[in-house]
Amino acid sequence: MSEPRTELDAGAAIARAIGKVARGFSVTFRQVFRKDATTQYPKEIRPLPPRAHVGRHLLNRHENGLEKCIGCELCAWACPADAIYVQGADNTPEHQVSAGERYAETYQINYLRCIMCGFCVEACPTRALTLTDNYELAFESREDAIYEKWQLLEPPLPLGTAPGTQEGK
Ligand code: SF4
Ligand code: SF4
Repeated sequence: MSEPRTELDAGAAIARAIGKVARGFSVTFRQVFRKDATTQYPKEIRPLPPRAHVGRHLLNRHENGLEKCIGCELCAWACPADAIYVQGADNTPEHQVSAGERYAETYQINYLRCIMCGFCVEACPTRALTLTDNYELAFESREDAIYEKWQLLEPPLPLGTAPGTQEGK
């Protein structure tokens, strides 16, 4: 049978309990007085770091205008989400699209599948494919979420100017 607790023991237990509660609430109060970290997007566009590659893809061209993409499909094979579809075709002297023997006749990226992992960019042997800093990807239909080659060849709109962002202001 245990000894009855003394008043001293009870006082120490109460003091310990108060200490624990005070430590717990100190976390709450520290958060209450911290600077607000909420960004009022899209009114406020917080710039990304200069080397951030987290957004929509871009198909690049050489300085002479020829496409860098040679339609090799390595990006499509590397994609873990099966988001890329490439159909290659041969260049001809009359129809020279890329700097290689072949070019991408069809190039599509499905942004309902893409997880922005960048594996496709790593796999590309010609640096034809890069990720940009434009993360403003919103769609009204499944079809709209599939970007065609002509769209991917265009640089994305600056952040804050995508259709729909103005309505949010
Ligand atoms: S970023 Fe990743 S998920 Fe998106 S298309 Fe490239 S490989 Fe696929
Ligand atoms: S983007 Fe690169 S990896 Fe993909 S088909 Fe074109 S050249 Fe090949």
